[in-house]
Amino acid sequence: MMETMQTRYKKLMEKAKNLLVLQSAEYIIHWDMETMMPPKAIKLRSQQLSLLSRIEHRMSTDPEIGTLLQEITRRPQYDKLDEIEKRNVYLIKKNYDEQTRLPEDLVAEIAKQRAITVDVWKKAKAAKDFSMFRPELEKLVELEKKAAEILMEVKETATPYDALIDIYEPKMTAKTITKVFDELREGLVSIIKKCETAPKKPDTSILKHKIPIDIQRQIAKALAEAVEYDVTSKEAGGRIDETEHPFTNGYYDDVRITTHYHEDNFTSSIFSVLHEAGHAIYEQNLSPEWMYQPIGTGCSSGFHESQSRFVENIIGRSREFWVYFIPKLKKIAGNVLADVELDPFVHAINQVKPSKIRVEADEVTYGLHIIIRFNIERDLFADKIIVKELPEVWNQKYKEYLGIKIENDSEGVMQDTHWASCLYGYFPSYALGNIYSGQILAAMEKDLPGWRKQLAKGNFKNIKKWLVKNVHTHGNLYDPADLIKKITGKELNVKPYLNYLNDKYSKLYGF
Ligand code: ZN
Repeated sequence: MMETMQTRYKKLMEKAKNLLVLQSAEYIIHWDMETMMPPKAIKLRSQQLSLLSRIEHRMSTDPEIGTLLQEITRRPQYDKLDEIEKRNVYLIKKNYDEQTRLPEDLVAEIAKQRAITVDVWKKAKAAKDFSMFRPELEKLVELEKKAAEILMEVKETATPYDALIDIYEPKMTAKTITKVFDELREGLVSIIKKCETAPKKPDTSILKHKIPIDIQRQIAKALAEAVEYDVTSKEAGGRIDETEHPFTNGYYDDVRITTHYHEDNFTSSIFSVLHEAGHAIYEQNLSPEWMYQPIGTGCSSGFHESQSRFVENIIGRSREFWVYFIPKLKKIAGNVLADVELDPFVHAINQVKPSKIRVEADEVTYGLHIIIRFNIERDLFADKIIVKELPEVWNQKYKEYLGIKIENDSEGVMQDTHWASCLYGYFPSYALGNIYSGQILAAMEKDLPGWRKQLAKGNFKNIKKWLVKNVHTHGNLYDPADLIKKITGKELNVKPYLNYLNDKYSKLYGF
C-alpha cells in the first residue's frame, strides 16, 4: 500500500524532532563547559562535542530525509499541506540541501581551522600582534569563501557574502543592508554631534560605586523578575550563572542566561542580564504546540537581537523603568547606593561617547561599530580588500566614523572573536535588531499607548503580553522581511528607530 502524505510528513517530523532534541543536549553541554566544567575535563569535552556534531551532521543529511522530501513536495499532494506544514517542510529542505551540498571534508577543515584560529587569536590579542593572527585568519577566510560559493548556488543568492548573511538573516542581502545602514549612519552621526554640543552632560561617577558581587547577584534576580524571566520559582525555566562573556542558551522550558559581575562597574551586569533576559523570554514564549518542530525557533539572529535590545535599551534604559526599579535597587544595595537620584542616574546610564570597544559602546554609537564591521566583511568577501589590509582599513574607518584613534590591534581589528570564530555575516544582525526594535516599539505604542506609565509602576505584564502575541509566538513561521511586515505593516525602515533615539536623547541632553 502507498504511504499516505500524512504518514510521510509524520516520519519527516520525527526526524526533525530528533535533531532538535540532540541540539538541545548540545546546548547544555556547551553551557556546562562555560560555567561549571572543571578544567581537567576539556579533553573529554572536546571528544563529546566532536562526536555529537558528527552525529548531528549524519542525522541532518540522512538520505531518507531526501527521499521523504522528494515525495512530499510532489504536486498535487503538496498543496494539501497547510501553511504550518509547508513551512516545516521548507525549513527542513533548506537545511538538508545546504548540509548535503557542503563537502564533508570542507566542513571538517573549516571546523579544524576555526579552532586553530580562535586559539591563535587569543594569543595574538594578548600580544597585541596582528602578524601572529594573520596567516591563520587568511586560511580561514579562504576556506569560508569556498563554502560561501557553494552556499551561494544552493541558496541562489547574488553574491557569496549574501549566502553567509542568509545563515543568520534569511533572504537579507548586502545591498539592502548597505542602503539601510547608510541611512542609519547618517542619523546616528547627527545625534552624536547634537549630544556632543548639548548643554547638559551626564555625571557618571555614580556608576563607579563599588557593589559587592553577592549584592549584584540579588540585583540580577530582581531584574529577571521585573521582566518576567523566572529564575527563582518552583516552576522556573531559567537560571543565571557567571561567565566572562554573557550569553543565552537553551530551548523552550530550559533557557539559561549568564552574566559577569565587576565590583567597580555594577551596571555592566545590570544591562547584560536585561539583554540576555530579552533573548530568554523570546525562546520561552514561542508557541508551545510548535516545540520539536522547525518552526518552533526564533525567526532570525536579527529578530533575536531586536528582543534583547528591546528589553535592555528601550525598557531597561528608560526613565520609567528606573522610577520603579531605583527603590528596589536601594533596598537590595543598602547604603552604597543611597545617593542615587533618578534623573542623574538615567542620564549616566545613557551617556553617549564614541569609544573603541563595541561591547562597551552606548546605544547610539553602537550602530557605527557594526556598520564598520559590515562594510569590511562585505568588501573582504568581494575581494576588494585582503586580510593583510584589515588593520589599516579598520583604523581608518574608526577615525572616519567615530573620530577615534586606534592605538593597537587588540583594541582594534582583533577585539571581537567573530572573525576568528568564522561568524562572517553575523555582525549585521546586531544593528538590524536595533532597527527592528524601533519598528516594533512604534507598533506597540499604537496598541499600548500607556506602556510607559505602566512600566513606571513596575507593570511589565502588558508589554510582555504584546511582545509574545506579536513577535514571539510567530516563531520561525515567516522570514524576517515578512515578519516585520506582519508586525508593523511596513518594510524594514530605519526611521522609527532614529525617531526613538532622537526623542530620548533630546530629552536627556536638552537639545
Ligand atoms: Zn544578544
